[in-house]
Amino acid sequence: MALFQAFHAYPLLFVAAIVMLSLAIGSFLNVVIHRMPKVLERQWRDELAEINGQTPAPATPYNLVVPRSQCPACGHQISALENIPIVSYLALGGKCSACKAKISPRYPMVELLTGALSGYIAWRYGFTVLTAAALAFAWAMIALAFIDLDTFYLPDDITLPLLWAGLLVNIAGLIVDLQSAVIGAIAGYLALWVVFWAYKFATGKEGMGYGDFKLLAAIGAWLGWKMLPVVILLSSFVGAAVGISLILFARHGRSVPIPFGPYLVLGGLTAMFWGDDIVRYYLQSL
Ligand SMILES: [Zn+2]
Repeated sequence: MALFQAFHAYPLLFVAAIVMLSLAIGSFLNVVIHRMPKVLERQWRDELAEINGQTPAPATPYNLVVPRSQCPACGHQISALENIPIVSYLALGGKCSACKAKISPRYPMVELLTGALSGYIAWRYGFTVLTAAALAFAWAMIALAFIDLDTFYLPDDITLPLLWAGLLVNIAGLIVDLQSAVIGAIAGYLALWVVFWAYKFATGKEGMGYGDFKLLAAIGAWLGWKMLPVVILLSSFVGAAVGISLILFARHGRSVPIPFGPYLVLGGLTAMFWGDDIVRYYLQSL
Protein backbone atom coordinates (compact mmCIF):
# COMPACT_ATOMS: atom_id res chain seq x y z
CA MET A 1 0.00 0.00 0.00
CA ALA A 2 2.98 2.26 -0.56
CA LEU A 3 1.04 3.97 -3.34
CA PHE A 4 -1.85 4.82 -0.99
CA GLN A 5 0.58 6.30 1.52
CA ALA A 6 2.16 8.35 -1.25
CA PHE A 7 -1.30 9.63 -2.30
CA HIS A 8 -1.91 10.69 1.31
CA ALA A 9 1.47 12.34 1.64
CA TYR A 10 1.54 14.06 -1.76
CA PRO A 11 -1.95 15.28 -2.76
CA LEU A 12 -0.68 16.59 -6.08
CA LEU A 13 0.59 13.13 -7.00
CA PHE A 14 -2.95 11.86 -6.41
CA VAL A 15 -4.42 14.65 -8.56
CA ALA A 16 -1.96 13.85 -11.37
CA ALA A 17 -2.81 10.13 -11.21
CA ILE A 18 -6.55 10.89 -11.33
CA VAL A 19 -6.10 13.24 -14.30
CA MET A 20 -4.21 10.56 -16.25
CA LEU A 21 -6.84 7.94 -15.42
CA SER A 22 -9.66 10.34 -16.27
CA LEU A 23 -8.30 11.20 -19.70
CA ALA A 24 -8.65 7.48 -20.49
CA ILE A 25 -12.14 7.49 -18.92
CA GLY A 26 -12.96 10.49 -21.14
CA SER A 27 -11.92 8.44 -24.12
CA PHE A 28 -14.29 5.67 -22.98
CA LEU A 29 -17.07 8.23 -22.41
CA ASN A 30 -16.68 9.22 -26.08
CA VAL A 31 -17.43 5.59 -26.98
CA VAL A 32 -20.44 5.52 -24.63
CA ILE A 33 -21.77 8.82 -26.02
CA HIS A 34 -21.35 7.61 -29.59
CA ARG A 35 -22.50 4.02 -29.24
CA MET A 36 -25.06 3.75 -26.46
CA PRO A 37 -27.87 5.41 -28.49
CA LYS A 38 -27.09 3.06 -31.39
CA VAL A 39 -27.02 -0.01 -29.14
CA LEU A 40 -30.41 0.96 -27.66
CA GLU A 41 -31.85 1.62 -31.12
CA ARG A 42 -30.83 -1.90 -32.17
CA GLN A 43 -32.43 -3.39 -29.06
CA TRP A 44 -35.71 -1.58 -29.68
CA ARG A 45 -35.71 -2.58 -33.35
CA ASP A 46 -35.21 -6.23 -32.38
CA GLU A 47 -37.92 -6.05 -29.73
CA LEU A 48 -40.32 -4.47 -32.21
CA ALA A 49 -39.57 -7.19 -34.75
CA GLU A 50 -40.30 -9.79 -32.09
CA ILE A 51 -43.63 -8.14 -31.20
CA ASN A 52 -44.54 -8.18 -34.88
CA GLY A 53 -43.76 -11.89 -35.03
CA GLN A 54 -40.64 -11.48 -37.16
CA THR A 55 -37.28 -12.95 -36.32
CA PRO A 56 -34.84 -10.14 -35.61
CA ALA A 57 -32.23 -9.71 -38.32
CA PRO A 58 -29.01 -11.43 -37.29
CA ALA A 59 -26.60 -8.62 -36.66
CA THR A 60 -22.87 -8.36 -36.15
CA PRO A 61 -22.08 -7.77 -32.47
CA TYR A 62 -22.17 -4.09 -31.56
CA ASN A 63 -21.78 -2.85 -28.01
CA LEU A 64 -19.55 -0.61 -25.93
CA VAL A 65 -16.56 -2.95 -26.40
CA VAL A 66 -16.99 -4.60 -29.82
CA PRO A 67 -16.09 -3.74 -32.60
CA ARG A 68 -12.90 -1.71 -32.26
CA SER A 69 -13.28 1.99 -33.09
CA GLN A 70 -13.10 2.88 -36.76
CA CYS A 71 -12.85 6.05 -38.81
CA PRO A 72 -16.47 6.85 -39.74
CA ALA A 73 -15.32 8.10 -43.16
CA CYS A 74 -13.13 5.22 -44.43
CA GLY A 75 -13.50 2.41 -41.88
CA HIS A 76 -9.80 2.52 -40.95
CA GLN A 77 -9.41 0.69 -37.65
CA ILE A 78 -8.02 3.01 -35.01
CA SER A 79 -4.81 1.57 -33.55
CA ALA A 80 -3.86 1.81 -29.87
CA LEU A 81 -1.30 4.48 -30.73
CA GLU A 82 -3.96 6.55 -32.48
CA ASN A 83 -6.22 6.20 -29.44
CA ILE A 84 -4.19 8.02 -26.78
CA PRO A 85 -6.39 10.74 -25.28
CA ILE A 86 -5.69 14.24 -26.67
CA VAL A 87 -2.08 13.33 -27.64
CA SER A 88 -3.16 11.28 -30.67
CA TYR A 89 -5.57 13.96 -31.84
CA LEU A 90 -2.80 16.58 -31.75
CA ALA A 91 -0.21 14.25 -33.32
CA LEU A 92 -2.61 13.37 -36.16
CA GLY A 93 -3.47 17.05 -36.66
CA GLY A 94 -7.13 16.21 -36.11
CA LYS A 95 -7.23 13.98 -39.21
CA CYS A 96 -7.67 10.25 -39.86
CA SER A 97 -4.23 8.72 -40.58
CA ALA A 98 -5.60 6.76 -43.55
CA CYS A 99 -8.06 9.03 -45.40
CA LYS A 100 -7.25 12.43 -43.82
CA ALA A 101 -10.92 13.00 -42.99
CA LYS A 102 -11.36 15.53 -40.20
CA ILE A 103 -11.84 14.06 -36.72
CA SER A 104 -14.38 15.98 -34.64
CA PRO A 105 -12.62 18.21 -32.06
CA ARG A 106 -15.34 17.11 -29.67
CA TYR A 107 -13.46 13.87 -28.93
CA PRO A 108 -10.41 15.55 -27.38
CA MET A 109 -12.71 18.16 -25.80
CA VAL A 110 -14.68 15.49 -23.93
CA GLU A 111 -11.38 13.94 -22.81
CA LEU A 112 -10.04 17.30 -21.67
CA LEU A 113 -13.28 18.15 -19.86
CA THR A 114 -13.31 14.77 -18.09
CA GLY A 115 -9.65 15.12 -17.10
CA ALA A 116 -10.03 18.69 -15.84
CA LEU A 117 -13.23 18.08 -13.88
CA SER A 118 -11.84 14.88 -12.34
CA GLY A 119 -8.59 16.65 -11.43
CA TYR A 120 -10.63 19.35 -9.69
CA ILE A 121 -12.58 16.70 -7.73
CA ALA A 122 -9.35 14.93 -6.67
CA TRP A 123 -7.79 18.24 -5.62
CA ARG A 124 -10.87 19.36 -3.75
CA TYR A 125 -11.78 16.17 -1.86
CA GLY A 126 -8.36 14.50 -1.70
CA PHE A 127 -7.71 10.78 -1.39
CA THR A 128 -11.16 9.90 0.00
CA VAL A 129 -14.27 7.83 -0.68
CA LEU A 130 -16.07 11.09 -1.48
CA THR A 131 -13.68 11.64 -4.40
CA ALA A 132 -14.47 8.17 -5.79
CA ALA A 133 -18.22 8.83 -5.54
CA ALA A 134 -17.98 12.34 -7.00
CA LEU A 135 -15.94 11.02 -9.94
CA ALA A 136 -18.60 8.43 -10.77
CA PHE A 137 -21.28 11.13 -10.54
CA ALA A 138 -19.34 13.52 -12.80
CA TRP A 139 -18.52 10.88 -15.42
CA ALA A 140 -22.15 9.74 -15.70
CA MET A 141 -23.27 13.38 -15.94
CA ILE A 142 -20.82 14.10 -18.79
CA ALA A 143 -22.04 11.08 -20.76
CA LEU A 144 -25.68 12.13 -20.23
CA ALA A 145 -25.10 15.74 -21.30
CA PHE A 146 -23.54 14.80 -24.63
CA ILE A 147 -25.97 11.95 -25.40
CA ASP A 148 -28.84 14.38 -24.83
CA LEU A 149 -27.18 17.00 -27.05
CA ASP A 150 -26.87 14.45 -29.85
CA THR A 151 -30.13 12.55 -29.55
CA PHE A 152 -32.52 14.55 -27.28
CA TYR A 153 -32.64 11.44 -25.17
CA LEU A 154 -31.39 10.55 -21.69
CA PRO A 155 -31.05 6.75 -21.47
CA ASP A 156 -32.61 4.97 -18.47
CA ASP A 157 -29.50 2.79 -18.56
CA ILE A 158 -27.59 5.74 -17.08
CA THR A 159 -30.17 7.88 -15.25
CA LEU A 160 -31.66 5.05 -13.15
CA PRO A 161 -28.36 3.48 -11.94
CA LEU A 162 -27.21 7.03 -11.18
CA LEU A 163 -30.30 7.50 -9.00
CA TRP A 164 -29.74 4.20 -7.11
CA ALA A 165 -26.06 5.07 -6.69
CA GLY A 166 -26.99 8.43 -5.18
CA LEU A 167 -29.21 6.75 -2.57
CA LEU A 168 -26.48 4.17 -1.91
CA VAL A 169 -23.68 6.67 -1.24
CA ASN A 170 -25.99 8.61 1.06
CA ILE A 171 -26.90 5.56 3.18
CA ALA A 172 -23.68 6.43 4.95
CA GLY A 173 -24.43 10.16 4.61
CA LEU A 174 -21.47 10.74 2.27
CA ILE A 175 -22.96 13.94 0.79
CA VAL A 176 -26.30 14.40 2.57
CA ASP A 177 -28.33 12.34 5.04
CA LEU A 178 -30.42 9.51 3.59
CA GLN A 179 -33.72 11.23 4.32
CA SER A 180 -32.71 14.31 2.30
CA ALA A 181 -31.57 12.02 -0.52
CA VAL A 182 -34.84 10.04 -0.70
CA ILE A 183 -36.95 13.21 -0.59
CA GLY A 184 -34.55 14.73 -3.13
CA ALA A 185 -35.12 11.88 -5.58
CA ILE A 186 -38.91 12.08 -5.31
CA ALA A 187 -39.09 15.88 -5.29
CA GLY A 188 -36.64 16.10 -8.22
CA TYR A 189 -38.85 13.87 -10.35
CA LEU A 190 -42.09 15.56 -9.33
CA ALA A 191 -40.81 19.12 -9.78
CA LEU A 192 -40.23 18.69 -13.51
CA TRP A 193 -43.21 16.37 -13.91
CA VAL A 194 -45.46 19.16 -12.65
CA VAL A 195 -43.80 21.72 -14.96
CA PHE A 196 -44.15 19.31 -17.89
CA TRP A 197 -47.89 18.81 -17.39
CA ALA A 198 -48.59 22.47 -16.61
CA TYR A 199 -46.76 23.48 -19.81
CA LYS A 200 -48.49 20.80 -21.83
CA PHE A 201 -51.87 21.79 -20.43
CA ALA A 202 -51.25 25.48 -21.20
CA THR A 203 -49.65 25.19 -24.64
CA GLY A 204 -50.42 21.67 -25.87
CA LYS A 205 -46.68 21.19 -26.39
CA GLU A 206 -44.14 19.03 -24.64
CA GLY A 207 -41.27 21.13 -23.32
CA MET A 208 -39.10 18.32 -22.02
CA GLY A 209 -39.04 14.59 -21.61
CA TYR A 210 -39.32 11.95 -18.91
CA GLY A 211 -35.54 11.54 -19.06
CA ASP A 212 -35.21 15.04 -17.61
CA PHE A 213 -37.40 14.09 -14.62
CA LYS A 214 -35.26 11.02 -13.96
CA LEU A 215 -32.07 13.04 -14.25
CA LEU A 216 -33.28 15.61 -11.72
CA ALA A 217 -34.41 12.73 -9.48
CA ALA A 218 -30.87 11.33 -9.66
CA ILE A 219 -29.38 14.75 -8.87
CA GLY A 220 -31.78 15.02 -5.91
CA ALA A 221 -30.67 11.58 -4.68
CA TRP A 222 -27.03 12.67 -4.77
CA LEU A 223 -27.29 16.22 -3.45
CA GLY A 224 -30.48 16.14 -1.37
CA TRP A 225 -33.71 18.08 -1.81
CA LYS A 226 -32.27 21.35 -0.48
CA MET A 227 -30.10 21.69 -3.58
CA LEU A 228 -33.00 21.22 -6.03
CA PRO A 229 -34.02 24.92 -6.19
CA VAL A 230 -30.38 25.83 -6.90
CA VAL A 231 -30.15 23.21 -9.66
CA ILE A 232 -33.46 24.20 -11.24
CA LEU A 233 -32.71 27.94 -11.13
CA LEU A 234 -29.19 27.55 -12.51
CA SER A 235 -30.22 25.24 -15.34
CA SER A 236 -33.24 27.37 -16.27
CA PHE A 237 -31.21 30.60 -16.33
CA VAL A 238 -28.37 29.16 -18.37
CA GLY A 239 -30.78 27.26 -20.62
CA ALA A 240 -32.88 30.35 -21.27
CA ALA A 241 -29.78 32.49 -21.91
CA VAL A 242 -28.39 29.97 -24.41
CA GLY A 243 -31.80 29.44 -26.01
CA ILE A 244 -32.39 33.17 -26.50
CA SER A 245 -28.89 33.74 -27.91
CA LEU A 246 -29.36 30.83 -30.32
CA ILE A 247 -32.61 32.37 -31.56
CA LEU A 248 -31.09 35.87 -31.81
CA PHE A 249 -27.64 35.14 -33.20
CA ALA A 250 -27.72 31.72 -34.82
CA ARG A 251 -31.16 32.12 -36.42
CA HIS A 252 -32.18 29.03 -34.52
CA GLY A 253 -35.91 28.62 -35.12
CA ARG A 254 -38.09 29.32 -32.10
CA SER A 255 -39.71 25.93 -32.48
CA VAL A 256 -36.45 23.98 -32.79
CA PRO A 257 -36.19 21.96 -29.59
CA ILE A 258 -33.25 22.51 -27.24
CA PRO A 259 -32.33 19.60 -24.97
CA PHE A 260 -32.66 20.43 -21.27
CA GLY A 261 -30.39 17.63 -20.01
CA PRO A 262 -27.07 19.44 -20.58
CA TYR A 263 -28.31 22.37 -18.45
CA LEU A 264 -29.46 20.07 -15.67
CA VAL A 265 -25.99 18.49 -15.78
CA LEU A 266 -24.38 21.92 -15.59
CA GLY A 267 -26.69 22.93 -12.73
CA GLY A 268 -26.15 19.63 -10.92
CA LEU A 269 -22.35 19.76 -11.08
CA THR A 270 -22.29 23.44 -10.09
CA ALA A 271 -24.57 22.71 -7.12
CA MET A 272 -22.37 19.77 -6.09
CA PHE A 273 -19.27 21.96 -5.83
CA TRP A 274 -20.57 25.44 -5.02
CA GLY A 275 -24.22 24.91 -4.03
CA ASP A 276 -23.58 25.64 -0.34
CA ASP A 277 -21.69 28.85 -1.22
CA ILE A 278 -24.47 29.96 -3.56
CA VAL A 279 -27.17 29.36 -0.93
CA ARG A 280 -25.14 31.14 1.78
CA TYR A 281 -24.42 34.11 -0.50
CA TYR A 282 -28.07 34.34 -1.48
CA LEU A 283 -29.33 34.19 2.12
CA GLN A 284 -26.81 36.84 3.19
CA SER A 285 -27.81 39.24 0.46
CA LEU A 286 -31.50 39.06 1.37
ZN1 LIG B 1 -10.45 7.60 -42.39
